[in-house]
Amino acid sequence: MDALVAHYHEVGLKGRNREFFEETLARNLKRSLRGTGYKRIRRGFGRLAIDLQERAEVDEAALRASRVFGIANIGAGKRVEPNLEAIAQGALELMLAEPFASFSVRARRSYSSVGLSSREINVDVGQRIKDATGARVDLKDPEATAYIELFGDSAIVYRRRIRGPGGLPVGVSGRMLALLSGGIDSPVAAWRMMRRGTEVELVHFHGQPFTDPSSVRQAVELSQMLASYHLAVTLHLVPLADAQREIVLSSPSGLRVVLYRRMMMRIASVLASDRGLQALITGDSLGQVASQTIENLQAVEASVPSMQVIRPLVGMDKLEIIHDARGIGTYEISTRKHQDCCVLFEPRSPTTKARPAEVNAAEAELDLDTMVGKALAGLETRVLELPDPA
Ligand code: ATP
Ligand code: MG
Repeated sequence: MDALVAHYHEVGLKGRNREFFEETLARNLKRSLRGTGYKRIRRGFGRLAIDLQERAEVDEAALRASRVFGIANIGAGKRVEPNLEAIAQGALELMLAEPFASFSVRARRSYSSVGLSSREINVDVGQRIKDATGARVDLKDPEATAYIELFGDSAIVYRRRIRGPGGLPVGVSGRMLALLSGGIDSPVAAWRMMRRGTEVELVHFHGQPFTDPSSVRQAVELSQMLASYHLAVTLHLVPLADAQREIVLSSPSGLRVVLYRRMMMRIASVLASDRGLQALITGDSLGQVASQTIENLQAVEASVPSMQVIRPLVGMDKLEIIHDARGIGTYEISTRKHQDCCVLFEPRSPTTKARPAEVNAAEAELDLDTMVGKALAGLETRVLELPDPA
């Protein structure tokens, strides 16, 4: 096995957009395959052909490629000479590896200089597979498929196809900052924006020394998992404990959580501006907890009037979010025990309807700019790279 074929959906891609998309996708693929024995990428119509070295780690390469946003599916197979004999031999060998009762052959050409039509290949190869295995042809719902791609001056045959995440390649939809707690929702929110092609940096607020370091450990592990999709991820760690103490000392207890969250947003918005990031992303979902009523979401958003706040999960149900988190691989990490800074001095009955006048009165007691500055003075930034294959 020494070749991959990456397919992407072409819907909505036109003209220069398409060029930008393909270039970005090819660059991201290259980075994700670093260290797996990758040789070169060739661009075709709606697909990219990836040549690997002879002793490449094909499974690892296919797995990595299947996490690159923009890719609909990945075929893993081998390169053969672009003549009917070699193609048929190659396809037959793959098909004989595992038995099946029904099959189809699907040949496709892109930019191919080879003088064979897809139909000719389908018929010829299909007949040989039928003769060798006795299986019947089923074009609608085959148990096994021999895929054949004629690509430029070569051919690739494969049988195994892995689904990719779809979406757009990271880098085509701007840059944003996601607020990452240690919980289930925010990693899913960040992942969804990454899948729309956004380059995402992450910020986590921790309550140390009033809390233990478990939330930071969570944030690092979640970031590592997200890096397997996004490639490298920048994680900012910000201490919130001092600001939280001041809020607790001067404000009504019912407003604490809303005031913590407003503080997070302000700090995040300064950080975003410094880093040239265009919007904030949070994992809020309407009505999920007391802090996520429409009144409270509005109260939190009002703290950063000049920054766009994107909430990709706002209309999602908790079960849908959990389903996503499992698929992404963050659920296992998020559900470990950890101490979130928001539960510090959490009152028994937080307000579900923060009123703007109350919020403003409470904050009038605080020196907000100094609090933001102090928190950012404790900023620690880490870059988590996609690990090299073992
Ligand atoms: P999550 O599962 O993402 O923790 P949640 O349901 O616990 O969300 P909240 O605690 O109200 O909800 O947090 C809402 C959003 O605020 C989170 O999705 C996240 O974007 C942000 N947030 C909360 N706590 C933190 C934190 N400690 N650091 C960074 N962002 C946070
Ligand atoms: Mg949480």
